[in-house]
Amino acid sequence: MDLRELDEPPRSADLVIIGAGVVGAATAFHAARAGLDCILLERRPLPATLTTPRATGGFRLQFDNREEMELVSESVELFLGFNSTHGHDIGIRQQGYLWCTMDEAGIPRQQGLVEMQHGWGLTDVELLTGDETRARFPWVGERVLQARFRQGDGFLDPRALALGMLSVSRTPFVAGCEVSEVVVDSGCVRGVRTNKGEVACEQVVIAAGPFSGTVAATAGLELPLYTVRRQKLIFANAPFVPQDSPMVIDEETGAHWRPALDGAFLLHTDADEPASPAADPVPVDHGLHRRLIDPDSPVSICRVTPFWERAWTDGSLEWDIVAGQYTMTPDHRPLIGPTDIEGLWLNCGYSGHGVMGSPACSRVLIDLICGQSPLDGNQLAPDREFIEREISSI
Ligand SMILES: Cc1cc2nc3c(=O)[nH]c(=O)nc-3n(C[C@H](O)[C@H](O)[C@H](O)COP(=O)(O)OP(=O)(O)OC[C@H]3O[C@@H](n4cnc5c(N)ncnc54)[C@H](O)[C@@H]3O)c2cc1C
Repeated sequence: MDLRELDEPPRSADLVIIGAGVVGAATAFHAARAGLDCILLERRPLPATLTTPRATGGFRLQFDNREEMELVSESVELFLGFNSTHGHDIGIRQQGYLWCTMDEAGIPRQQGLVEMQHGWGLTDVELLTGDETRARFPWVGERVLQARFRQGDGFLDPRALALGMLSVSRTPFVAGCEVSEVVVDSGCVRGVRTNKGEVACEQVVIAAGPFSGTVAATAGLELPLYTVRRQKLIFANAPFVPQDSPMVIDEETGAHWRPALDGAFLLHTDADEPASPAADPVPVDHGLHRRLIDPDSPVSICRVTPFWERAWTDGSLEWDIVAGQYTMTPDHRPLIGPTDIEGLWLNCGYSGHGVMGSPACSRVLIDLICGQSPLDGNQLAPDREFIEREISSI
């Protein structure tokens, strides 16, 4: 991996990107393609170490709306060609997403969604009866009535993706460099102030993940963002997990798992988790293990995949929990585009989809910055009217 790390930031740049997670790296990737002279500033000692490595790394086209499906399909095209085009293995595994329902009411809901997806041209989503699901994936529980499955969905290594994009971009970055203020004068960006000196510039992108609101506040802006903790339970070694299985999701509870390492990652997106201030590090709640693994828990992963009971009965299996934060917007779509301050741009608020969303959305942002697409056609504009919608948390 050929990363260009500098000890100090330069005195000036065309464009400063604040934050070197997957979103900052995707911004650098497209900015470099557009020929911009960029610098990436990262507060932590290493890039892509806050939220990005916490992600499950899932990507999918099975969405409930056409816009997100089309945007993410642009990202997926980049993922699938990344190794052959750029020579970086980002750990792609196209093992599918399997959404299982155990509820009679879930059957017509899934049917309607799959019909809609077929209508958008996503014709490779399969609708399987419970028995068809078990014929294909014998470890699926008897209570599963129906499932929807798309083989082309899958997962990747989010940190490898971020570092790969950063490396390909050849964009220099400074670690241990915290932006304390975006300097604004007469409504225009003039630069950024950091613990390692000032950088003069007329364009700044805020890609600071959960801290994007904090950074924007230094320029006097209040963003429609809030942060919510999300956790990942890791079994690094669970021999009973079939390593060729898809991402498996309980439609009713949102509990899900996917094979990883020599075991699996397991998650539950708890709708009752309250918003909490942006944090680094994010505190862990070890109760997640019981909620996910105890067969008697209402959100137990054993509902859909009974073999996880072994992790409950076999106390010798080692596990760990890590936590990050989703950076949410009122309509669960990111904020991509300009602010009221000339030269200050946003690339944040991915609401749990930053790995799969950021390559495409960062291309959209750089097109806007370079005047390659009109500002008024941008559906992700930060000043759009927010229409609240049900969260798609996986
Ligand atoms: C448990 C979990 C599972 C997830 N699963 C998926 C998934 O399967 N698929 C998917 O697409 N997404 C998933 N996500 C969401 C995804 O991880 C995020 O959307 C994405 O990582 C956000 O990237 P980012 O670059 O914005 O944030 P980060 O990775 O947090 O990067 C922001 C960077 O900005 C830096 N920074 C902050 N303030 C400053 C400052 N003042 N100066 C300089 N630097 C600063 C931070 O140190 C940090 O490195 C998941 C998230 C979690 C928590």
